Parts: sequence; C-alpha cells; structure tokens
Amino acid sequence: MTSKLPDSGPSIFAVMTAAAIEHKAINLAQGFPNFDPDPRLRHLIAQAMEDGYNQYAPMPGWLPLREAVADKIGRCYGRVPDPASEVTITAGATQGLYAAIQAMVHPGDEVILLEPAYDSYLPSILLAGGVPVPVPLSLPEFRVDWDRVRKSVTPRTRLLITNNPHNPGGSVFTADDLRKLRDIVLENRLLLLSDEVYEHLIFDDRPHLSVLADPDLFARSMVTFSFGKTFHATGWKTGYIVAPASLTSEFRKVHQFNLFSVHTPSQVGLARYMEDQRVWDELGAFYQAKRDFFLGALAGSAFRALPCQGTYFALLDYSALSDENDRTFCLRFAEECGVALIPISPFYREAPPGMRIVRVCFAKTEEVLRQAAERMVSASYPDGP
Ligand code: PMP
Ligand code: GLN
Repeated sequence: MTSKLPDSGPSIFAVMTAAAIEHKAINLAQGFPNFDPDPRLRHLIAQAMEDGYNQYAPMPGWLPLREAVADKIGRCYGRVPDPASEVTITAGATQGLYAAIQAMVHPGDEVILLEPAYDSYLPSILLAGGVPVPVPLSLPEFRVDWDRVRKSVTPRTRLLITNNPHNPGGSVFTADDLRKLRDIVLENRLLLLSDEVYEHLIFDDRPHLSVLADPDLFARSMVTFSFGKTFHATGWKTGYIVAPASLTSEFRKVHQFNLFSVHTPSQVGLARYMEDQRVWDELGAFYQAKRDFFLGALAGSAFRALPCQGTYFALLDYSALSDENDRTFCLRFAEECGVALIPISPFYREAPPGMRIVRVCFAKTEEVLRQAAERMVSASYPDGP
C-alpha cells in the first residue's frame, strides 16, 4: 500500500526514550515530569470512577469542566469564553491540533508553520491534503521573523500555526510579536492555530500574551491547551481547545468522528479539582527554579545554554564538545554518558546545516537534575576539568 505519510517514522521522543531505557540513561529527552500530579487530583479522578462516571461523556466535554476552563481563562486573560459553544475538551493538545487542522484545511490550502515545529503539525497538515510552508525562526534566539512570515503569505494561505511559549526554542512572544501576528492574520484574513500548551511555564516575570485576550484575533483563531502540562500529568492526554462558535462547530464535526469524547472520570475529577485550585499561579516560579538549578549545575560543563524564557525545555549548544550531527551525538551521549537528550533537527523538514544544538527537559526532581548535570560535566572533561 502506498503510505500516506512516507516520511514519518517513530517520533524522536519515542526513539530517545527507547535509547534511555536501553542504556539505562537519565531521560531528559521526552518532555514529561518525573514527579506525580497532586494526590488530591489523583484521588478525585479515582473517586469519579467509584461514583459511577464510567460511560461516555458528552461529545464537547463534561460541562462542569468546560465551565471551569472558561472561568480559568477569564481569570488569566480577561475574557470568559462561552463553555457551551467555544470550549471543547480534547484528548490532549495533540488531538485538538489534529482535529483543528482537519476542520480548517482543505486540499491544496497552504499552511504556514514556524520551524523548528512540534512534530505533530506537519503530518496533520499532510493528512488534510494541505501544503506545508515552513518559515524558519531566527537563530540563535528562536524568534519569529514576521517579515518573512508576511512574505510567505499567498492567496492560497489558509492557516498559520504558532506556538507560544515555544517548544523547543524556549522563546516567548512579546507585545510587539503579538501586534505583528495580529496584523498579518487580520490583513490577510488567515485562520490562526495558536498552540499555548506551555501558557503557565513562563519565567522572569514575563506575562503570557494569549491570543484569547485579543477579541479581533480570537475571532479568527483556535487555541489549544493541555492539562498534561499544567497538572504534571502528560499520560492522561487531556486538554482543551477554545475557538469562536463558528470555528468550534466545524471543529466538533471532525472531533465527534475522530474521538467523540474524552475519558469521563478524568474530566469529572479535573472539574472538581479546579473548583478551588489555582495551582497554575505557581507553575512559572516552580519551573523557573528548576531551570536555574539545572543550568547553574551545567555551568561548569562544555554545554552552552541558550536563553530559556518559557516551557520546561532548555537548548544547549554542544559545539565545544563534538562536531557530530545532533542525532548521532544524542544516541552516543545516551549510550556512553548516560543522559538522553533530544536532537533539534527532527523539528525541521530541513534543518539548518551545522546546527549543534540539543534540547533537555528539566521537569525533573532536583536529585535527578543534579545527577544528570554531574554526568554532563564529567562527559565534557573526561580527564577532569
Ligand atoms: N504542543 C506542544 C508544543 C507540545 O510540546 C506538546 C507536548 N509536549 C503538545 C502540543 C501535545 O500535548 P498533549 O500531550 O497534551 O497532547
Ligand atoms: N511533547 C513532548 C515533547 O516535546 C513529547 C510528546 C510525545 O512524546 N509525543 O517532548
């Protein structure tokens, strides 16, 4: 059979996690916390099963959870979306992104994506018959070159995909970025898919500038979020997408056949938990301390950290250590030095030549971060610094 995705193999996250397991390396590759969600939240989800919430949830999601999400958005971004017509619960952000792209992109439509890009965007565009138009972020800051984005718009451009805070770049939009984004979307009547899964993982007193705060931009946008990031529970694969009613109704046409509805007890437990928890208020400081601890511990190594303004990822330049390409370096490093990292080139269709940058996930306990940093320092200077 002819493959619909001939260039897709196992994701780099699966490859590097498998390498970590094989070599008993510390896994700083795939993005997930090595600590558990709040015991109270776990209890509430288990309790929901005991309470009999074990059959299909409504297609758009458990209404009290959609209400809790709308309330949270109101508190964070000053605009309360309508839980009935503008909020849909998804099976993680990945499924929301996929269904949104299927709903918005017709065969032959051009879709601008900013590279490096999260790995699910490209195959989702291709399966919709869309034409991906990659625009590189500037190096080494991983910022959007809006002039370049503007020049990439054609009469066939349907959708622009942004990710703020950015995985893997660690960069965060400024007010100027948001203004330029707004101008391009509104002037060209584009649709915007704004991936904001790291909304709360943002550092050094920066605000998260959500598309949801701008009514004109929101009118043309679908915005994805992930409970996995906010509640340290990536394995639950739960999230939500927020969009104006007209786009939400198109989204739900795809969602109901792509999934129908999300795991019911998780939704009931999350809704009960969110009644009186605002844990996201502390997330930025929580992860900022981890970033500072880990990058501080790496200061004596040959890895050079790039600025990290948000997400739980940091980028490290390893050019002082090796001239291998990033994939070879990561596989060898996991095997020989006992730390699994992520190469950046798989986030590009065609990576810039000679890029010697890897990504680390610092969503780990201090003990694990200390151990990993020790291995990375001694790998830098095998005969002692
Ligand atoms: N978008 C980005 C930028 C991500 O980094 C991730 C997961 N790491 C996702 C989407 C997917 O989120 P989920 O696990 O909720 O599907
Ligand atoms: N989003 C996670 C990351 O960037 C991985 C998700 C996955 O493994 N598919 O590491």
